[in-house]
Amino acid sequence: MGRVSGVGIGIRASLAAALCVGMLAACSSDEAPQSDPAATCADVPNGTTAAAPPPGLNPAPPAGAPPTSQNLATNPEIATAYRSGMVPVDTASYAVSTANPISTRAACDVLRDGGTAADALIVAQTVLGIVEPQSSGIGGGAFLLYYDAEKNSVEAYDGREVAPMSATENYLRWISDADRTEPKPDARASGRSIGVPGVVRMLELAHREHGRNEWRELFDPAVSLADQGFEISPRMAGQIAASAPELAVDEESKAYFLNPDGSPKPAGTKLTNPALAKTLGAIASGGAEAFYTGAIAQSIVDSTANASGGRTPGHITLDDLANYQAKKRTALCTPYRDHEVCGMPNPSSGGTAVAATLGILENFDLSASGPTNLDANGGKPTAEAVHLISEAERLAYADRDKYVADSDFVPLPGNSVDTLLDDDYLKRRAELIDPGKSMGTAKPGDFGPVPLGVQPQDKEHGTSHISVADKYGNVASMTTTVESAFGSFHMTEGFVLNNQLTDFSAQPVGPDGAPLANRVEPGKRPRSSMAPTLVFSRGDDGTRGDVEFVTGSPGGSVIIQFVVKTLVGMLDWGMNPQQAVSGVDFGAANTPVTGVGGEHPNINAARDGADDPLIAQLRAMGHQVSVAPQSSGLSALQRVDAGWVGGADPRREGAVMGDGTG
Ligand code: GLU
Repeated sequence: MGRVSGVGIGIRASLAAALCVGMLAACSSDEAPQSDPAATCADVPNGTTAAAPPPGLNPAPPAGAPPTSQNLATNPEIATAYRSGMVPVDTASYAVSTANPISTRAACDVLRDGGTAADALIVAQTVLGIVEPQSSGIGGGAFLLYYDAEKNSVEAYDGREVAPMSATENYLRWISDADRTEPKPDARASGRSIGVPGVVRMLELAHREHGRNEWRELFDPAVSLADQGFEISPRMAGQIAASAPELAVDEESKAYFLNPDGSPKPAGTKLTNPALAKTLGAIASGGAEAFYTGAIAQSIVDSTANASGGRTPGHITLDDLANYQAKKRTALCTPYRDHEVCGMPNPSSGGTAVAATLGILENFDLSASGPTNLDANGGKPTAEAVHLISEAERLAYADRDKYVADSDFVPLPGNSVDTLLDDDYLKRRAELIDPGKSMGTAKPGDFGPVPLGVQPQDKEHGTSHISVADKYGNVASMTTTVESAFGSFHMTEGFVLNNQLTDFSAQPVGPDGAPLANRVEPGKRPRSSMAPTLVFSRGDDGTRGDVEFVTGSPGGSVIIQFVVKTLVGMLDWGMNPQQAVSGVDFGAANTPVTGVGGEHPNINAARDGADDPLIAQLRAMGHQVSVAPQSSGLSALQRVDAGWVGGADPRREGAVMGDGTG
């Protein structure tokens, strides 16, 4: 039986009725910690403070710390330390969470003044591109799930980068057919990794369909900020320090991020970005067309082709840019207990893998295996839960690794996502789980001869997540990325160019000689793991009820695990959004290693976790446990009778704001 419910119209959501115009909070410059339950657009949560971890526990690397093998192996974006004890933010009729308080406040102001979630996204994205350029910006791509309250429809927008039309299957692994060596200095930092950016076209499309404010006005906050300047945050400074040698190769990146003596600009340095102010001004007045054609497009072409510093040029053309299209997809909506969970379909594997994991977990009763000693930081997970969820993830990743890619090029088994998410199939997958012993590595399901081959994916990341609810009942969940931190390190016209094409497999065929689903092809979109997610209540007859939750995270292929642990926390264990987001990050891709985030104050990561009973129990069940710090950047919003409750990830600098309830 199929699980996928698509975008059918169900029970009309009552959120529109929650319109609450009497609650407008003035946006002043007063600052209050996130622990103030009556949050307003003016509140700046405890984004830059971090409690010292208790003695014996494993601290996250301090901001600016040089990367170490431990914090880079699984924690590629520099963590900013864990903000212990964060409490949820309550708002009345609208709420927004982004990875930076300046961006959250700007987006919140727009919501306060009557803007829609689509309007707020444009403000949040353009400001994030200034204050968090290591993670996202107009030179990158994004996926967006948008719930339109009036139509009761969930719409999926694909703003993923595409490979240039001249890209061959060897584009990332060889300089040319004649020179079969890797692009220099490596594929990621060469021009070859740069895909045609997608986020600007995607936001324009979303705005055309859901915006209320003038497109032009939505760029004002970012243009002013770029002109007037801002202070480099600790997290951004840490990432500049970690990437200084690579940033130094590109003249524009070097001039912007480094001091004249080549040292990285530290936290607190005031930065202005007049080039970006000009670019954003052009997009404000000329629309996305001003980005994809003309002078800005030419600069993207030139920067991609720039061979200075010995870099191998990429082959993006003006036609590649002019022809870029954001796509509307069918949202992937599946039942989970008495909820409907909607995620992003291909070319992201995020929605499919989250849905498959939940579909497997539905065969188990998780309600009694929630965390013990539940505190503001989400308590301590039980070994039983970590085991079951990690095993379900192994099975889901096994299928994802083999079958999921851009389905405009490579069809899914059975030509539909239903095959991988079929109830009976997932029940049979669930039966492969031994309650007492880890399977180590799962085999993908067998769907007959498919000439695809297995291909896992993992490396470093630069991404951000935005969750928004407006006062009209619309909600948006958008994950946005330049792929690795500072993307390809190429910068032009004030923005960073992505390295998204490294999400393709550089090898066109697997060890078995079969072509890989996620190989490079001209005009194809690289497989993603981004998993913006919306959750609705579900009637007994399967119809969609009210919006319940909005969530998502950065983290590369680990996003799937971050989102699953947050959903299970909220849906199965009744954790509030802050507890669910703050809770220990745990899970597994399809390897014998199970991650349990050692940055968390409730995990004793000293002596490689040897003294922590949870780690000991998991090891006894055969899990190879890694306690390396995890770098999620989750946010979550929950709809409640009084409005919204929100949580931001204590591992980053994010903040939730909205209108006060008091
Ligand atoms: N490029 C990655 C993806 O699309 C995201 C990277 C990250 O989350 O940091 O899955």
